[in-house]
Amino acid sequence: MAAATWQGTDEEFARLEQAVAHNCDCVVGTLGLPPLTCPAHVMLGDQTTLDHLLYVYRTRQGFITREFTQSPFGPSPLPVRSGRSGRNQSCGPKGGR
Ligand SMILES: [Zn+2]
Repeated sequence: MAAATWQGTDEEFARLEQAVAHNCDCVVGTLGLPPLTCPAHVMLGDQTTLDHLLYVYRTRQGFITREFTQSPFGPSPLPVRSGRSGRNQSCGPKGGR
């Protein structure tokens, strides 16, 4: 199995290192017990996860901006029903009434 590699910038890697250090629960082996590697450090060996994290790092701001800021043009208008009955005229029986 090939080692996972970070495809992002040095600044993005520093951010990842900081996040992993903040969430690290590794246990040093003592009293004859083996050391335990925490899930955050295990994740660093998974290439797919690293690639996905990088994608999220780079795209999240766009999603946040679109989700939490209002368009200068206001909300998009609701579709308008045609006809007085409020029913969609393209549905229902065909005929000339
Ligand atoms: Zn750890």
